[in-house]
Amino acid sequence: MTDLIARRRALLGPNVSTFYDEPVHIVRGEGVWLWDAEGHRYLDCYNNVPHVGHANPRVIEALCRQASTLNTHTRYLHDGILDYVERLTATFDDPLSTAILTCTGSEANDIALRMAEAMTGKRGIIATDATYHGNTALVSHLSKSNEPEVGFGLGQYVRHVEAPDSYRSPDPDGSRFAAHVARAIADLEAAGVGFAALIVCPLFLNEGFPTQNAGWLRPAAELVRRAGGLLICDEVQSGFGRCGSRFWAHQKQGVTPDVVTLGKPMGNGHPVAGLVTTPEIMARFRQAFRYFNTFGGNPVSCAVAMAVLDELRDNDLQHNAARIGQMAQQRLTQLSTRYAVIGDVRQSGMVFGAEFVLSRDSKAPAPEFANRVVNAMRHRGILLSRLGRHKNTLKIRPPMPFGADHLNLLIDTLDEVLAEMTEAG
Ligand code: PMP
Repeated sequence: MTDLIARRRALLGPNVSTFYDEPVHIVRGEGVWLWDAEGHRYLDCYNNVPHVGHANPRVIEALCRQASTLNTHTRYLHDGILDYVERLTATFDDPLSTAILTCTGSEANDIALRMAEAMTGKRGIIATDATYHGNTALVSHLSKSNEPEVGFGLGQYVRHVEAPDSYRSPDPDGSRFAAHVARAIADLEAAGVGFAALIVCPLFLNEGFPTQNAGWLRPAAELVRRAGGLLICDEVQSGFGRCGSRFWAHQKQGVTPDVVTLGKPMGNGHPVAGLVTTPEIMARFRQAFRYFNTFGGNPVSCAVAMAVLDELRDNDLQHNAARIGQMAQQRLTQLSTRYAVIGDVRQSGMVFGAEFVLSRDSKAPAPEFANRVVNAMRHRGILLSRLGRHKNTLKIRPPMPFGADHLNLLIDTLDEVLAEMTEAG
């Protein structure tokens, strides 16, 4: 272990993060389980990329079959990408019927921003102040937490608005968020940059997945349209049925975006990502920019991505997410009656967590406590993390085949850890 850490530092450079005080050396995965080099088994409550389970046999079979037949790029004719894009866009509402496939969510967001520029002739982008959208030169400026100090001066095109926080400052109908967006639009226009797009994760997952009523995004979306900008929904984390009630989280939020970006779960770990948009926006983008992606949409990626859709459908995993999410909400709420350190419980299908506070009166965040919980869980064989502006909310977003027994093991272990760490137990 010490050896591996030293080699990483020497070979990958400094400041390359690992999870946990004592990093985990994973060597194998299957379904919702992971094994480390010493043979210890962990319940994976963290990884949303292996969406249909680690080492999913159907995905592996599709990958091997296509890789042993042909893998080239999209400058040759091939059915695979067309069959996949037809199947993918059928899950969206009109007029979202065209797609570009990429290798990462960052690339997809980068294209989405360029589409906004092509459509509006302007460059100003609005994002929340506690989000992450990726790592390209432009997209990295959207993330306040790791906003680069340098970066071609692209920061001038970005304005951050306060991320929603349903626990500390409720905004039941989304009108306050819309007012923040209105101010940012005015600011961009006054600065001469102009307003091109609002980009948000419809569940605000990186921000701490606040509790929101259905249709919460509508006021902001209407405002964006009135101002002539595009609404970009980043569904890199929230998509492909994770929110349970709908296949796409923007549908739950009551809006039809201009562009939806996709990634992480799309290829179950194989690097396939992309975006879906309207024919009009696609045409304008294709005229404004010559775009080609060597690996994006190759036959192997499309075969893998298709197998993910098959698995989701045949195993009814979206409904599983809804069912397990409800159970998680109930069990976490029960825990909160016994542990005052839990200030709030939140859930959106197969994404759930509890926010830890120093006191329920002050709602003061308890990030150190959350960190100790995460590390204690790791030592008991449960992998999860923490997130949100204050890094005090448990981040639990397991692979979609996560079942009731897995949930019970997770919550029972959390109960033990909280009992040990608090006097109440
Ligand atoms: N958008 C969101 C919401 C994300 O969480 C991430 C990755 N954490 C990205 C975009 C970037 O995706 P990628 O790492 O595939 O570039």
